[in-house]
Order: sequence, then C-alpha cells, then structure tokens
Amino acid sequence: MSAPTDRPAAANFVSDLVVADNEQGTFGGRVQTRFPPEPNGFLHIGHAKAITVDFELAHEFGGICNLRFDDTNPDTEDTSYVAAIIDDIAWLGYEVGEPLFTSDYFEQLYRWAELFIEQGKAYVDDQDGETISAQRGGYGKPGVESPHRDRPIEENLDLFRRMRAGEFADGSKVLRAKIDMQHENMQMRDPVMYRIRSGHHHRTGDAWKIYPTYDWAHGQSDAIEGVTHSLCTLEFDSHRPLYDWYLDQLAEAGKLPFEQPRQTEFARLELTHTMTSKRKLLRLIEQGLVDGWDDPRMPTLRGLRRRGYPAESIREFFDFIGVSRTNSRNEIELLESFVRTRLNKVAQRRMAVLRPLEVVIDNWPVDAAGEPVVELVELVNNPENADDGTRTAPFTGRFWIEQDDFMAEPPPKYYRLTPGREVRLRGAFFVTCVGFDADADGHVERVHVTYDPETRGGNAPDGRKVKSTMHWVSAGHAVDIDVALYERLFAAEVPGEKTGDVFDDLDADSRELLTGCKAEPALAETEPGAVVQFERLGYFALDTDQPHLFHRTVGLRDEWANIQKRKN
Ligand code: ATP
Ligand code: MG
Repeated sequence: MSAPTDRPAAANFVSDLVVADNEQGTFGGRVQTRFPPEPNGFLHIGHAKAITVDFELAHEFGGICNLRFDDTNPDTEDTSYVAAIIDDIAWLGYEVGEPLFTSDYFEQLYRWAELFIEQGKAYVDDQDGETISAQRGGYGKPGVESPHRDRPIEENLDLFRRMRAGEFADGSKVLRAKIDMQHENMQMRDPVMYRIRSGHHHRTGDAWKIYPTYDWAHGQSDAIEGVTHSLCTLEFDSHRPLYDWYLDQLAEAGKLPFEQPRQTEFARLELTHTMTSKRKLLRLIEQGLVDGWDDPRMPTLRGLRRRGYPAESIREFFDFIGVSRTNSRNEIELLESFVRTRLNKVAQRRMAVLRPLEVVIDNWPVDAAGEPVVELVELVNNPENADDGTRTAPFTGRFWIEQDDFMAEPPPKYYRLTPGREVRLRGAFFVTCVGFDADADGHVERVHVTYDPETRGGNAPDGRKVKSTMHWVSAGHAVDIDVALYERLFAAEVPGEKTGDVFDDLDADSRELLTGCKAEPALAETEPGAVVQFERLGYFALDTDQPHLFHRTVGLRDEWANIQKRKN
C-alpha cells in the first residue's frame, strides 16, 4: 500500500469554521489569514504545516494570506533570515506578496498603548522581571498587585514617553496592562506590553528603545492588516482571552479598521524521529553535530529540499493528515511514503553501483582490432511515464555489480549471482556465474561469468526464466560518484522521551559517505538538485553545490505500509 491519492478529504475543522462564519456573515464573507514567523532561524517542517494551513484556507475561500514577520525582538532577529524564509515559502509552492513586518506597526502600537494608559488600562512598573513573575502567582495561588499599579495616569504617560526616549536602562521598567491580578488565567494577570531593549533592530535600527511583547503585538497587527482568522498552535490557547481583551478595548474605543479578528488554535505537527525546535536545531549546528541548516538530515525546509523532497509531497502529506485540535504524532514514514509516491512518478531511472565488485565475461567477443565489442543497450527512463522515453547505456565484457549481489556460499533462498546461477542484467543479457577470484583471505576480488548472446535485451528466446534481475554499470564507461546514505538523525521514535534529553538520542553515525561509487554515463547529465531513482536502491538527489555527490532521499520500500500492517 502506498500513500493513498484517491481518498476522502481529510477533516479540517478550520474550514468548517469558516463555512459557519460565512453563513452567519461574521466577517462579511472575508477570509484573511497570515503566517507570522519570527525571523530568528530557518523554517522547519512544523512551520510548513502552519504555512499550508494558513495559505490553503485563504485559497479555499478566495481570500488572502499575508506573510508577516513577527520582528519584535531586536536581539535575535536578522535580515538574512527574512530572505531565507521568503525563499522557503516560495519553494513550498505558495505565493508571497509584499512581506509585512510587525515593526512597521511600532508607531501605531505605541499610540494604542498610550491610549490604554490614558484610559487607566495600563501602567509603568519599576519592578524587575523576577519580582513581576513571582507576584503573578499560580493556579490556586493569588497574584500580588504591584506597588506601582495605581500610579496616576499623568505619571504613567510621562514615564512611558521617557522609556521610549531611551532614558532608562534595559529591564528597569515595563509597561503592563491593568487587568486583574486574581484572574484564573495567568495570562490575564497584568501582562507585560512593553520592555526596554537597547539592541539594534534589523529594520528600525536604533529608533526604538522599547519593544512590544508577542501578546500586545500580535492581535493588534492582525487588526491593522484586516486578518479575520488568526490561526496558531494549541499552546496559545491560554493566550486567547488576552488576545480578545486587547482587541475588545480597541473596538470599544472605535479604533479597529476592520471586523475584529479571532484567534483559533490547531494541533502542532509532531513527527516521529524528529525534533522541531529552532533553538535546539541551532544547538545541533553550533555543536557541529550536523553541517548546517541545510544538512540533508535536518527537518528544516532547506534540509529536506537538499535531500530531494519534492515540495508537492510535503503539501500532499499535510492535506492527508488534516487539521485538528488534538495533539498527536505522525509517523515520519507516512511523510516519506508521499515523497516516494511523488518521486516514483517523476524521477528518471538510472543504474549506479554503490559498493562495486568487478565481473568479467569470459566469452565476450572482440572486434577486428582485438578490442572488446561495445553493445549499446536500450533502457526505459521511467516505466511510470512513457513520455520520458529511453536512453542507451554501453555494455561490454567487464562491469560492476553490488558486492552483496554475489555470494560464493549463499544461504537458502539467495537468488542473485552465485556459482552456477544464471541471472538477468537489466536491459542487457543473461549471465551465468562460472567462478570467482579470491585473495589469500578468501575475499572475493572478481567474478567470472559467461553470457548468452541470444538473450540480448534481457529475454531468452527459449522462454527460460531467471529469478533475479540485477543492475550493473559498464566498467570502462562508468562515472565516479559519491553517495551519502542516511539513517534517522534521532534513533528514538520520540526523541528525548526515554532519555530525558533529545541530544542523548542523536545518532552520531546517521550519515554514511560512500566514495568511488560507479554510475552509468547518463547520470552525468543530471541537473543539480534533480532526483533520480537508482534501480533497486532508492531515490537520490544530486547536491546543488558538489557536482558528484548524491544524497539518498528515501529508499524504495514502503515502510509506512509495514507499520500499518503491524498495527492492524
Ligand atoms: P520554534 O519553537 O521552532 O522556535 P516558533 O513557534 O517559535 O518555532 P515562529 O517563527 O514563532 O517559531 O513560528 C511561526 C509560526 O509557525 C507560528 O504560528 C507557530 O505556531 C507555527 N509553528 C511552529 N512550529 C510548529 C509546528 N511544529 N507545527 C505547526 N505550526 C508550527
Ligand atoms: Mg515563536
């Protein structure tokens, strides 16, 4: 069973919600979403889910989806990430219009904060962060009001303006919303709206000395842009009352330019054998455990792309798993089965031998000059797509096969090459093993075969059958390539679950680099980044920088089907 393509539409409660909104005319029939990354790292497969949910919902209802950079922290953000994020979203297949930036709303957010102060709904607190969070209390533990909570409005305004002017040191003051220190939801216990930060911002430079918090910036930015459905992951569930409270105040004051946006949460993507936290991914890089953000083992879009994942297969995967409000973990084998299904349709077939063993045909003919004859055999480029046509590959009396396609003393049910056995060489001839050369240690150095000239093309006129078809590469015509094989970066299904630390589940040997691999001449024409199927071995992507390096994208076996069988 491969990834199903003919299937009922997956459950998507967000679409249902929009249908209900449209029936009730909640947003005047408008659908506007946004994808709000913080430009402090590269996008990973988890972000791809949010991107897919946001963009697909807008498309489904003829609306729009903004890319909005949530750039409210000058210390961690960088313009280089902005460009990389735009590029990754475009690669995934979504059209990014003019990107928007929360930093473009700093002035508006500031004015609205002053309005809150004027209305007695915000105050400046001189206490440090530790004190403030200790006073917040907890479940069943009452909050403690700040001694500055009842500062006169004029004093608050004056202090807030001086905070903006840069008169105070980092961390010495904050602006807080005045809500309710006994609220059952901790988020509502006088949350911080502004912090003082002296860092240099990647877009506004040194213009601002105060920066809005996520909660103060997010809903207000949604309102400024006219977002209707503000989708985020479930951990923001407890922030929703605050999201609404801020917007309610602005709505009461008649400040909202559009209908009041609404936050809706959906389940994060969690994948087996995968860890998606920008902070921890960065640690992998800093500790030299992977080569960088685009290491093919990384769950970043850069990594998956370099590994050869087609963007369509990632979108198809998200379409299949749907959108729900229940957290769960999907098997990475399911994602891989979408990758395999897609590549099966588009990847051209080639022959490559990863661990070469020499084979000599003892009865191969020579021409008039005494040179071995070279036959050109015809091979189908892709049995799934006749339009891809055929190619030719040279075949002569000396070729490479995989070391494990020959055994001097085979176990039962071994059907590949072994003394006395006849096999088919894909598209070429039947050959029969007549012996082998071994060194003093019994290590096989060369295999001898005879061929049957009547079997050209790979079929015997007398109808006799062979049990296996093997791939091969002509020794005199081979191109040398290097191949990177990958195991899971995290051996454990749920990294860190048993060990307590995801880094303890890291497989330090998750990459095996094979050099001196042999491939048929047509492989030399592969475009950088293209994926081909090496017959019997899997799908392999040519690196975009290193001209002879192929990364194994996925193997040929559908492991997800096996998992399903085991479960049932
Ligand atoms: P990380 O935890 O990796 O640092 P983040 O949530 O801090 O990620 P943001 O740039 O703030 O990174 O994320 C942008 C958007 O992507 C947010 O709306 C966030 O909810 C969403 N997102 C991040 N991780 C996932 C995930 N695993 N599944 C679905 N959506 C995600
Ligand atoms: Mg975040």
